[in-house]
Amino acid sequence: MFCPQCGKEYTQRVNFCCQCGTALFTPVTTSPKKLVRSRTDRKIAGVCAGFADYLELDVTLVRILWLMLALFGGWGLLGYLIAWIVMPQEPLRQPAVAPQPSASAQPAASH
Ligand SMILES: [Zn+2]
Repeated sequence: MFCPQCGKEYTQRVNFCCQCGTALFTPVTTSPKKLVRSRTDRKIAGVCAGFADYLELDVTLVRILWLMLALFGGWGLLGYLIAWIVMPQEPLRQPAVAPQPSASAQPAASH
């Protein structure tokens, strides 16, 4: 990589040019988090796991909080139903394509 400011070449990754101090790192672009129902970690509809993922909390903690809301206020159950309806499901993750045994492969013919 080259420093766009002074043209110094760097063979390894550096964040700042040591000659002129220009920032050389490329900002990591992260897509904004989406509140989605988890497909993989779910007890009922994946709402709790979705919230836990979004809020970066332990899913068990979210479940406990939600259950407490449901038991003591009655709002948890309603909230869960609303979240179930409103929250989209997380997009399907494409599973890694496992090498399929080819149907055309013939067993070694014995002579
Ligand atoms: Zn420079």
